[in-house]
Amino acid sequence: MAAFGTEFTGQMVSSHYENGQWSDLQVVPVAPFSLHPATHVLHYASECFEGLKAYRQQTGEVHLFRPDRHIARMTNSAAQLLLEIPGQAELERSLHMAVAAVVDAIPAYPGALYLRPTLLGTEQDIGAAARPSQKVLYYVLTSPVGNYFAGGLKPLRVKVDDQAMRCTPGFGEVKTGGNYAAAMRHVVLAQRELGADQVLFAPGGNVQETGAANFVLIEGNELLTKPLDGSILPGVTRDSILTLARDAGLKVTERDFSVAELLERAPHGEAALTGTAAVLTPVGAFLYNGREITVGDGQMGPWSASLREQLCAIQSGAAADPHGWRAPLQVS
Ligand SMILES: *Cc1c(COP(=O)(O)O)cnc(C)c1O
Repeated sequence: MAAFGTEFTGQMVSSHYENGQWSDLQVVPVAPFSLHPATHVLHYASECFEGLKAYRQQTGEVHLFRPDRHIARMTNSAAQLLLEIPGQAELERSLHMAVAAVVDAIPAYPGALYLRPTLLGTEQDIGAAARPSQKVLYYVLTSPVGNYFAGGLKPLRVKVDDQAMRCTPGFGEVKTGGNYAAAMRHVVLAQRELGADQVLFAPGGNVQETGAANFVLIEGNELLTKPLDGSILPGVTRDSILTLARDAGLKVTERDFSVAELLERAPHGEAALTGTAAVLTPVGAFLYNGREITVGDGQMGPWSASLREQLCAIQSGAAADPHGWRAPLQVS
């Protein structure tokens, strides 16, 4: 299977907003489309997206994982960007339509179908820097993905940056391309200069998250993570892992914590990144001010392994679904 992000199915679902209304959802071929050079999104970044997965269970049944959460988050992203967006029921239908249209292309677990709902401003007006696009395109692109960890789960080396900001304050809960553009140079620099895999953003010494994943620290009987205060993405995987951690008897604490506390506790604990693409990835070491601080023994710790396994079992259909996270595919 091709690298993540480069292989797509042949069909997607789309809808256009024009003259104050959305067109009916349609299944269309995945193909290049044309945009006028003055298109709003190309100049003013009127864009947001989501990333979620549909899984094929061993029984052959197909389900989406927590689509309601992704729909709610995308609706909030669109609101912050003043972008029109289809209603909740239409968004839900669009996800099921997009999966149903290509259902035969869903690889067996641990493979999955990755869904990329995307919203962008398509009005042709470079004078519209300070007002919302009056035309919007919505589509759900899908991509078959293989085992993200075919090469094994290698703990990451993560640079802790106590100065750089991942995005502008208050925009952290918006899943928009602009935030990735803001974070990218910090990540690339850390890769080039330190051979780091990721950057943990901690502006002012306050630990937030990495460029595309939430962050958790586990030490003793406690899982510690930053609260959802608008500065970080409300990750669906984060919420799922926190729920499973509570179920397992861990004390889950959502509060601000400093780089100093992180680096003091990490050597006798575990640290991990959470996100849809990789589920949970262990951090093996932090790089900070010329020091390298090993997390635990540098390998994936027992809590990380157990929480990851539990979430994967729910996603694959191997375990029961006590929280109702699996949404069976509805063919309309
Ligand atoms: C998408 C994303 C996440 C992960 O969210 P999930 O819902 O768990 O996939 C975390 N942080 C950022 C900045 C993201 O863009």
